[in-house]
Amino acid sequence: MGLSIQKVNKIYQSGGTEFHALNDINLEIEIGEICVILGPSGSGKSTLLNAIGGIDQVESGSIAINDWNVSSLKNKQLVTFRREMVGFVFQMHNLIPNLTVYENIELAANISEAPLKIDEMIKAVGLEGMADRFPRELSGGQQQRVSIARAIVRKPKLLLCDEPTGSLDSNTSKEILTLIKQVNRNYNTTILIITHNQAISQMADRVIKLKDGRIDSVSVNDTVYEPE
Ligand code: ADP
Ligand code: ADP
Repeated sequence: MGLSIQKVNKIYQSGGTEFHALNDINLEIEIGEICVILGPSGSGKSTLLNAIGGIDQVESGSIAINDWNVSSLKNKQLVTFRREMVGFVFQMHNLIPNLTVYENIELAANISEAPLKIDEMIKAVGLEGMADRFPRELSGGQQQRVSIARAIVRKPKLLLCDEPTGSLDSNTSKEILTLIKQVNRNYNTTILIITHNQAISQMADRVIKLKDGRIDSVSVNDTVYEPE
């Protein structure tokens, strides 16, 4: 159980030439881990994250998460997999500007569970009293909190974050980091984070370095830094 990636290859075709974005990736991640993915720009970090999250398909190899064999799922099953298993957080939070905080989260929620679940999430990410605000009325950090609430409202087993603090100052980054850690603790969510943020790497259980579409190194942190 957990996340198991075996011999994964991803090739992009562009202008008649092939580009090997992922080469024979093997990786094992346990349930409940926080895992950081490092590597220079173009090393395949987003490609790997998107493949794990089922928003991008791979040429060969297998990606398995719990009972799901992600790499062999077809379109409709992929949608189900994403809805049941995965939450995404991006650098640019992608909130819908003309919807309120509440409505942005509602879009991702199970109808049967709303509105109780939405209120719970707003509280969980520290945005009490802000349900009726629009994204433009919030700070960058608050907007990212909304996108985390949206990502976890279905209680995904896997939270995938692509540069979640990439456009935030260091204090705000720290708050977001603390929040991500809370999600990990409270829901035992397995979390994968692409980041250049050193503090996040210190908090991670496992640090994976990519280089030219290959695993350069995997290190397991014995002493995990705890954000206060
Ligand atoms: P990283 O996230 O580490 O910056 P990416 O996974 O975004 O790297 O990209 C890895 C490589 O694959 C880059 O060279 C990028 O230009 C290329 N690439 C990414 N997406 C596509 C695509 N849709 N079509 C062609 N090439 C792509
Ligand atoms: P990152 O911030 O991860 O480095 P990029 O700026 O490389 O992301 O890419 C942003 C988006 O553009 C990604 O979704 C990626 O799939 C796509 N992309 C990147 N490189 C190419 C490319 N050469 N051709 C087509 N799409 C690409």
